[in-house]
Amino acid sequence: MMRHWWLAVLRCFSCSGPRTSRPVRLSCVLCIQSGPGSTAKRPRRTSRFRSMISSSLRMAGSIRATTRRIWLCPVSVKRLRKRRKGPAVFLPERLISARALTGVTQTALAETAGVAQSMVSMVEKHQRDFTEQLAVAFSSALALPLEYFTVTPRSIPRDSLHYRKQSGARVSDTARVHELFSEAFRVTESLLDGSGYPRQQLLAVQDDAELLDVARIDELAQQTREILGIAADAPISNVTRALERAGVAVATMNGHDDGFVKHSGVSWSAGRGEAALIGVMQVRGDRDRFTLAHELGHLVLHSFRRSSDPEREANLFAGAFLIPAPQVREHVAHDATLVDLRRVKATWGLSIQAILMRAQAVEQIDAARSQTLWKQLSARGWRKNEPVEVGAESPRLLFRLLQERYGPSPYSAPEIENEMALPVMMLRSLAPSPSTRKPSSSTPRPVAQLPWAGHG
Ligand SMILES: [Zn+2]
Repeated sequence: MMRHWWLAVLRCFSCSGPRTSRPVRLSCVLCIQSGPGSTAKRPRRTSRFRSMISSSLRMAGSIRATTRRIWLCPVSVKRLRKRRKGPAVFLPERLISARALTGVTQTALAETAGVAQSMVSMVEKHQRDFTEQLAVAFSSALALPLEYFTVTPRSIPRDSLHYRKQSGARVSDTARVHELFSEAFRVTESLLDGSGYPRQQLLAVQDDAELLDVARIDELAQQTREILGIAADAPISNVTRALERAGVAVATMNGHDDGFVKHSGVSWSAGRGEAALIGVMQVRGDRDRFTLAHELGHLVLHSFRRSSDPEREANLFAGAFLIPAPQVREHVAHDATLVDLRRVKATWGLSIQAILMRAQAVEQIDAARSQTLWKQLSARGWRKNEPVEVGAESPRLLFRLLQERYGPSPYSAPEIENEMALPVMMLRSLAPSPSTRKPSSSTPRPVAQLPWAGHG
């Protein structure tokens, strides 16, 4: 009993009372509905009330993100309950984004939600009120929390997002990736707010040149290493961790379907000193590291300037970031063989093909030699399947921020779906918990076993 009820020992989180001279019985809002001592049925029945109260108290600065008990006096409880009954505003544009996110057509949604297709269409066009009743129907049909329809994410202009994608990527899939990334960005921003975690301070390159040359990109990659606290001449043992330490969050965008696979990475930053996020569709250790470095290249090179060939620049940047020019000259001889490149791959954690391109870019290997090597590479089937596996990396920052807010097992916190306005399944895939992450069959070798694990 004493664990859940207090007599004026604490102050009410909402009104800082008791305001009367008599001691008032404060109660923890987490236990209100089923009474003191009993935890049965509590989370489900109180989750919306709890989530509403904790987010409003958090915004008011009355409680910290980590507060696990919410003490309120009866007057505040009454007042807050009343406020809960205030009408929620459901936004028609969120219905459009919800369909894009889940890839559901108006017709399919109407069928599942039990309404006419014209109703869905009219709500989206602001020709009909988006009532709570409709929102509830759509939310259960799309398996999204009701709150999804009430939040307004920062709008990321579609053409300002940077993608690393293959040529066969379909427009509709890109739209879904855009939608999922926007949600991930919204969650990232909300988690960073009030966390005290440092924000990205990457270079803001503003060169006038429409196309940067290799030397300039090398220089910028080197400066970026310095900003990220990476030694100028060492392999980067964990690209993900280096980014996260510098305030660039990384989200995994795996396991959706084939449409996503054609996209390797996507990134955006709201500006210097603001949130930055890279989404990566994980494939293999070496490829993922290159994707991360490529997206970092976009953030550095293309946040503040236009380029006539951003993809080429981002690829050059990735190579330069992963293996600086002096180290290419030191480790790749003019007459290097595939066996030599294999060794470089094991140390520097980028693919043999990427090393070959890097060596060509800094003119360490001439055209004739590289042509020979490319031929050998194809003959051995290494274009599709290279030897030497590079350990897969896994992001941690987003999960850690969720833990900071919701405790050690954030995905079992009942209020997480409402507050983050995304289903737990989706949150889990964006920010997997380290304990449940299964190593995929293609990544058997952990980073720690590689010779370069201790560096960077
Ligand atoms: Zn790109």
